[in-house]
Amino acid sequence: MSNSIRIQPRGQKGLVMLPQAPEDAGYYVYGNVSHKPGTGALAQYAHPDLMSLIFRIERHWQTIDDRKFGIGNISLADGGKFGHATHRKGIEMDCRPVRKDRMVGPSARCSRFDKIYDRDATLRLICLFAEHPKVQLIYFNDDIIQSAIGGGIVTSWAGHDDHFHVQIREPS
Ligand SMILES: [Zn+2]
Repeated sequence: MSNSIRIQPRGQKGLVMLPQAPEDAGYYVYGNVSHKPGTGALAQYAHPDLMSLIFRIERHWQTIDDRKFGIGNISLADGGKFGHATHRKGIEMDCRPVRKDRMVGPSARCSRFDKIYDRDATLRLICLFAEHPKVQLIYFNDDIIQSAIGGGIVTSWAGHDDHFHVQIREPS
């Protein structure tokens, strides 16, 4: 660990860029803007409330699993529109389901229909989000996970087979 102070890039609306997967992080980053490779970081600006949730869950996750989970699109720095109906305020993020292998990085996609999909671990990961009071809704199309968590917090939405979408409450 170095002692240097790391300042994360900041957008106009107080959104801050997610640290780009430091070595000791419990997550890795993936995703892009408009399918352009290498642009993922541009869409990883989070509201400070979401950022602290990510760090809390990342730490907790590292105590129960030694695989990294994938964090994809959050928001653009200026809250602009980019291929999502939402993802404009830094309060929504996409994450990949957990794979049975240890593959990470942009090509480590995993759908709930894949053999490599680790449902039990994905359930444990989504639980960490679902039990946090700031989390308002989660979209993920695995109905077994939906009913295991209960309370109607995890629901289906088109396209949410290879990632789950987490939205926190609107910051006051
Ligand atoms: Zn999303």
